[in-house]
Amino acid sequence: MKRPKLNITNTLFLTLTPIISVLGLYFYFSHEVFEWRYVFLFFIFYVATGISITAGYHRLIAHRAYQANPLLKLFYLLFGAAAFQNSALKWAQDHRIHHNKVDTDLDPYNAGRGFWFSHIGWIFFQEDTEMTFDKDLQKDKLIQWQHRNYLFIAVFIGIFMPTLLGWLMGSLVGGFVFGAALRIVFTHHCTFFINSLAHIWGKQTYTDENSARDNTILAILTYGEGYHNFHHKFQGDYRNGLKWYHFDPTKWLIQTCSAIGLADKLKRVPEEEIFRAKVRMQKKRLLQKRDWKHEYLEAVESLRLRLEETQQKFRALKLEYKNLKLELASAKHEKVEEMRLRLQVAKAEFRAAYRHWKLYTRALGNNA
Ligand SMILES: [Zn+2]
Ligand SMILES: [Zn+2]
Repeated sequence: MKRPKLNITNTLFLTLTPIISVLGLYFYFSHEVFEWRYVFLFFIFYVATGISITAGYHRLIAHRAYQANPLLKLFYLLFGAAAFQNSALKWAQDHRIHHNKVDTDLDPYNAGRGFWFSHIGWIFFQEDTEMTFDKDLQKDKLIQWQHRNYLFIAVFIGIFMPTLLGWLMGSLVGGFVFGAALRIVFTHHCTFFINSLAHIWGKQTYTDENSARDNTILAILTYGEGYHNFHHKFQGDYRNGLKWYHFDPTKWLIQTCSAIGLADKLKRVPEEEIFRAKVRMQKKRLLQKRDWKHEYLEAVESLRLRLEETQQKFRALKLEYKNLKLELASAKHEKVEEMRLRLQVAKAEFRAAYRHWKLYTRALGNNA
């Protein structure tokens, strides 16, 4: 096997930024009086660059999970560059390969090669060879423009701008250390956790065909990207945190942008499909138990089928009910009332089937 060559630029950048941050903090605290406004500056740039990676580079450009107004896309491309994680073009292509070849030698950040490799090591050895880019990325003028001017944009927005703002606020050093150096290090490692920890630590709720995990703590650190098992199973969905209470600020941002007309065509995988994957995974885990008793297989399978059937019926009726209500303006209309009753019954049947499934599988030792 060919010995990988060290990428000097990447290695120097990734090792020098933490050193500069520590030295900068020391210099700042020994020469100036600490002021919270620089922490605020850190936070503004941390959120703007981090969410440009998750909502822009990742969900919009790499996965095309929704469409964005050119102004919103431009914001993502400017502040995404300031995160110093490559141009959107290269980032998205690498990420698509990660999804397609996950856990193999072709996966750029293969988690099978250990924590350090998938976290940061792969960037040290990233080759400068020409990549082949997908057609949609090649054709996108804004993405191409950002790629050509990546370094200039990154330095201008990511270093010059916070330093200048710091200077205007009273401390050039404060602006540089908090808004640029330290912020770059934090944004880097939070994103890197998705490639490393989110493939090692957490639950495999929807699939075990790859190493991706759902992890709420990581979701908090990464604007919702920690629901990585869901994401690998349903990569086209604009959400990573499925439930409304799942901490997914990227999803909330996309929904807000959609409400004010900056984003549209938000892709969602049908609930039935997601539910089916979850239940199948629960069954699979049950069957993998060492003390699994084969005589229960038929019962488990019939419960699962009943569950899928009642869920499907409930979802279909819910949609029908919604459409009927829109069609017939009066909510008190006889037909609407009748449909409401049918929906209630279907819901009760689904809930009963789900409860039955949970009790049965729990009794057989599935704690999933
Ligand atoms: Zn992944
Ligand atoms: Zn992805």
